[in-house]
Amino acid sequence: MSLRFTEKRELIARGSDIVESVPRKIKNSFDFVRPYRVTSDGKFRLKDFDTADTQGLDLKDESNVLLRKSVEKLSDLQQKLYAEDRWSLLLIFQAMDAAGKDGTIRHVMSGINPQGCQVYSFKAPSAEELDHDFLWRTTKALPERGRIGIFNRSYYEEVLVVRVHPEMLKRQQIPPELLKKNVWKNRFEDIRAFEQHLERSGTIVRKFFLNISKGEQKKRFLRRLDEPDKNWKFSDSDVQERAYWDDYMEAYEEAIRHTASAEAPWYVVPSDNKWFARLVVANVVTDTLEGLKLAYPTVDAAKKDDLTTARKHLLGEK
Ligand code: ATP
Ligand code: MG
Repeated sequence: MSLRFTEKRELIARGSDIVESVPRKIKNSFDFVRPYRVTSDGKFRLKDFDTADTQGLDLKDESNVLLRKSVEKLSDLQQKLYAEDRWSLLLIFQAMDAAGKDGTIRHVMSGINPQGCQVYSFKAPSAEELDHDFLWRTTKALPERGRIGIFNRSYYEEVLVVRVHPEMLKRQQIPPELLKKNVWKNRFEDIRAFEQHLERSGTIVRKFFLNISKGEQKKRFLRRLDEPDKNWKFSDSDVQERAYWDDYMEAYEEAIRHTASAEAPWYVVPSDNKWFARLVVANVVTDTLEGLKLAYPTVDAAKKDDLTTARKHLLGEK
């Protein structure tokens, strides 16, 4: 279903309230992102999630404006988060290659004060990292209170790429008798417990799986080969990993099924259309921060006296 021109103009003017005037029964951004939220284990099936879903919206051309509005809201919320210095927000991005992690992170966080936001990209672990437990390197990178932390890949690789290539597990120096069985089940449990611990400590966790189809990945790889400006992004190993597509999908399905919770939900974001994926992520982030009811700290009577004195001093300066 596409929107009439006048409706689209109105949407642009009203920014992140877009979903209110969309001619479907979507009332707010909470409802807009709800279809993609996974909060409990058990029934989750990846095949129930359409990679090309756009909720019938045709907003590609307008999405930049809509996103900007959302980012403005985010910027304001982030300042309050920083000023309160109580909560922190951890955003985890996982995806197959070329699904658009980098672009989504760049666009959604573009208006944010860099002091309040840290992005970490996790690649294949170093020798030092392999000599520690699998949560060590990411734990060191967790956001401080008042900050937004972004993980571009994360400890979830430990139940994804490592599961698809079990020889990686052998390189982790884990005592062999601990690896006999239930490795993945144990890791899911550890991850769930870890995320619960974060939640209890004031770190809000939101996890995004940017869900693209195998066909869309092929198109994007070909574009990287065809367009000189994109050649640098092309990697032979990415194409080799494609051969394991089904194994990855199974690993993602299992990981999401076993680690989705109300406190640390997964969002399975339809990502064949980049503009749509970015709108979904932006709305999840603003919604999450709005849910915290953030406010600038209020000033008590003693502090007010200090301010009055400071004003007098300044005005009295020669
Ligand atoms: P881009 O390709 O957009 O630059 P990227 O995240 O794909 O970003 P790469 O350097 O291409 O970065 O790939 C990082 C690689 O590191 C991925 O193949 C990923 O699976 C791998 N990796 C990340 N964490 C682990 C881990 N814990 N164990 C093994 N491999 C890992
Ligand atoms: Mg890569």
